[in-house]
Amino acid sequence: MTAEEKTTLFYLINLASDYIRDGHSRGNKDNYTQSEAEEKATLPLAYMVEEPSDLADLAGSEVSPEQDSLETVAAEIRVCEACGLAATRTKTVPGEGAERPLVMVIGEGPGADEDAAGRPFVGRAGQLLDRMLGSIGLFRGKNCFIANMVKCRPPGNRDPGPEETAACRAYLERQIALLKPKLILCAGRVASQNLLKTSKGINALRGDFIEFKPNSESDVIPVLPTFHPSAILRDESLKRPAWEDLKLLKSRIESLSAEIEA
Ligand code: URA
Repeated sequence: MTAEEKTTLFYLINLASDYIRDGHSRGNKDNYTQSEAEEKATLPLAYMVEEPSDLADLAGSEVSPEQDSLETVAAEIRVCEACGLAATRTKTVPGEGAERPLVMVIGEGPGADEDAAGRPFVGRAGQLLDRMLGSIGLFRGKNCFIANMVKCRPPGNRDPGPEETAACRAYLERQIALLKPKLILCAGRVASQNLLKTSKGINALRGDFIEFKPNSESDVIPVLPTFHPSAILRDESLKRPAWEDLKLLKSRIESLSAEIEA
């Protein structure tokens, strides 16, 4: 993406944010620069999973739900060899963000940047995701937790296979049970199909919330499937429907906040 294209993208996202917040535009294109947008998106992380001192002790441990913690899940992921992705990963990517998030974002799986950093959504798609979330007041570390269906990079950024998503599903379900997000934003077809156990395409799934019950004991969590930020980077025509999804998410957050305050 050229500098001019980046500026245009930041402008559009900020413009949309202005309309949601204020009902009108607050500035012109020149008022938004990449560095300002980056500054807005750079927030301290309230929660990042630390590497435990003795990883080996945690391999294959059976933890009861009462004793479980995000650190335990992350530590188990770091030594996981349940599928073939373990052989090719550089770092595992358990996820990061607020401990009691309003919204949990679930992507497909780490790409090259995430595999190198051990953190989710840090490449170009991640930067766009941060800006999309920021435009409706969501920030990892503040009120959002970001994770993936699979915690290790599928080589060559291919879709994770069924045995790989199956091997990782228990980690994701434990994270959902611990985080208790009010809402889930599912980024892209692969994550949405896998989480919701459906073969419907993303065009059929997106545009509204779908009730999701991780297991018989858990509460229903509304899931909003939307386009993956990588797809939006590849196809400009997806920006508008993705923005419609974000507005829907924002209005659901506002209803929830109103319920909590009442
Ligand atoms: N794409 C994903 O689905 N997840 C990441 O963490 C990065 C890119």
